[in-house]
Amino acid sequence: MNFHISIPELDSYRNCDCSSLKRIYCRLHLLLCKKCEAKLSSLKESDEFITSIRKNLKNDEV
Ligand SMILES: [Zn+2]
Repeated sequence: MNFHISIPELDSYRNCDCSSLKRIYCRLHLLLCKKCEAKLSSLKESDEFITSIRKNLKNDEV
């Protein structure tokens, strides 16, 4: 595994937004690479963070 998955690639993998070949590559790589697995989970965390901010903003509007 010479090439790590870039953040935009992880993002499209996460959103099911890439070709099936790429998805297989990403899945395999994520099984073997703790670094990229960590990047993917930090993407998820920031997603949850943004979602919670959005919720708070909505509450303020109401
Ligand atoms: Zn990697």
